[in-house]
Amino acid sequence: MPKKRKSRGRNKGSKGQSSRVQCDACGAWVPRDKAIKVTKPVSIVDPQLARELTKQGAFIYRRIVTKNYCISCAIYQRVVKVRSKGERKTASDLR
Ligand SMILES: [Zn+2]
Repeated sequence: MPKKRKSRGRNKGSKGQSSRVQCDACGAWVPRDKAIKVTKPVSIVDPQLARELTKQGAFIYRRIVTKNYCISCAIYQRVVKVRSKGERKTASDLR
C-alpha cells in the first residue's frame, strides 16, 4: 500500500504503542509521537500595555509555555501547514 508520508505522520518507528497526550485546543487524546509540541514564551500582560512598559524600561516577565496540539488543531492554528506531495516526501523531519 502506498504511503502518504514516510513516517506515516508519526515519530514512532517500530515501537508498538506510545502514551497519549491531550490536545490543548480541543481536548482530543492523541499519541505523544503524533502530537505537535509547541514551546513559546507567553506574556501575562496585555501586548499593547507591555509594549508601552518596555519602552519605559520595565522588564516584563514572559513564561515559557509548552502546548500539545492534535494535527487538525495544529493546521487550524497555522503551527504546521499542509504540504504538497513532493515536500512531504523530501522532508526528513517529523512530518
Ligand atoms: Zn485538537
